[in-house]
Amino acid sequence: MADLNVKEMKLTKSMANFLYNDVTPHYIIFSKKMKKAHCTHCDSDVEVDFNIANHNKETKCPKCKAKALWKAEHYIRYGFEDNGCGIFYTKEDDCIVVHHFDIKKCYDRFGKVTFYNSKEALREYFNKNGWVKGFDNTWDCGWKKLNIREYDNMKGLAGEPCYHINFRWQYINTYTKNIGKAIVGTPWEHSCLDKIYKLKDNHHYWDVPKVFLRDYLINPLAEYLYKVGFYTLCEHMVFNGSIPCNHKEKSLMNILCVNKEQWKELLKNGNPDLDELKKRQRMTQYGFNEQEFEIFHKYFEDDTRYYRLNSRTSYDELKPLYRKTLYQLDKYAINEKDFEIGEYIDYLDMSDKLGDDLNSTFILFPKDFKKAHKEMVRRWNEKKQQIAIEQAKKRNEEYAKMRDKYIKSFAFEENNYKIIVPNGCDDICKEGQNLHHCVGTYVDKVCKGISIILFVRDVANLAKSFYTLELQGDRMIQCRGKNNTDMTPEVKNFIFNFAKQKHLIATMNMGGVAI
Ligand SMILES: [Zn+2]
Repeated sequence: MADLNVKEMKLTKSMANFLYNDVTPHYIIFSKKMKKAHCTHCDSDVEVDFNIANHNKETKCPKCKAKALWKAEHYIRYGFEDNGCGIFYTKEDDCIVVHHFDIKKCYDRFGKVTFYNSKEALREYFNKNGWVKGFDNTWDCGWKKLNIREYDNMKGLAGEPCYHINFRWQYINTYTKNIGKAIVGTPWEHSCLDKIYKLKDNHHYWDVPKVFLRDYLINPLAEYLYKVGFYTLCEHMVFNGSIPCNHKEKSLMNILCVNKEQWKELLKNGNPDLDELKKRQRMTQYGFNEQEFEIFHKYFEDDTRYYRLNSRTSYDELKPLYRKTLYQLDKYAINEKDFEIGEYIDYLDMSDKLGDDLNSTFILFPKDFKKAHKEMVRRWNEKKQQIAIEQAKKRNEEYAKMRDKYIKSFAFEENNYKIIVPNGCDDICKEGQNLHHCVGTYVDKVCKGISIILFVRDVANLAKSFYTLELQGDRMIQCRGKNNTDMTPEVKNFIFNFAKQKHLIATMNMGGVAI
């Protein structure tokens, strides 16, 4: 741990106590064998029920009542060490300053603190324009108007990750007692920054300041939420990063993507949680009443299924259908043996793509779902196969149109070699397989007329794949043999004579000129 290159912030007694006591956990070190337990908070031996002592589980000191973790003495034979970060807010002119203090605390096997150190390791200034200036002992970004991601990715002078990136201590806590005072006279004076910290007693989030301070100036959603008493959502927004919403809207109702009716419900019930918000958003989106929502939720809102739904393009088109038939679907699902909603969605999706009438109850709710699903898969595979055949046929037709022209243009034989024009796309693929090179992937280019593929054959064995030549227009791009090998001098001689007669240009690849 290195010092900041500036004067370290002076800590009050209360702040110093906070760093020492409230960042890293307290422990009850116990030995079942010796019937001994020691609290690291009140630093005294305590009487505990050894039957409930459980290494690393939470407990409370019977004496000082501090929250603590059990630690079994035999697991920590050589002592242990905790690292953490304590965060303080202060004010300098009209800026908020955030100080990150690293602390290190070492214990011996009996829970006695053998070493303790605290140092200010990172300082960040936030001004009224939404600019930030952060520095640690090796890095200083100067005043920057940065979005959070850019700031988070800023590296040190030598490209090394610095403290603000590298920060990974397990234990973090924020000192909240002076926040109300620290924001007076800054643009955050009327924000809920001091109040949101009261919503939670442990503040394990080291990036809250920068998220909150900047959002407040640009898009103070957390602030709006706090003001209408939506504390849970506000807390979620600040400490977990985001809630599902549309930031582009102006009013809170629209930002939260709910209609008037659902907005009233949210206000009436007060302080909704995330599930409640999502529910109201769904009800807005699909016009569900409560009962409809319950059924929808039962089948479609499960996390994995939800993902499946959203990953499907056709789902949007199927959505109204689900709504219309929700009650029927529920009844059907209960009565069908082994009904699985994922399979059902697949079934409808395939049915939709096959052009079935999805308004028909015979299609929507077939008599034996398992059987109907199986039949649907069969039809779907048949259709896919049909499509593949049609595509191949089309490609061959296109190729055939060009082939006669190629035969006229490129017919050539000399010494022991001959140029052959492939019969079709299958021929080209087969050539690729025979010679273990990738000409098979050129079929698309060939059918579009971008590339021309010609086979070079030995007249002694015309059926045997030998070399493959690619042309584009009047340029020779490449000529490859088995496993992508280059031309032998004989083949090269043949190809260059061919080029000369057909007025083709050899590219660099082919030992020709740059063009
Ligand atoms: Zn204690």
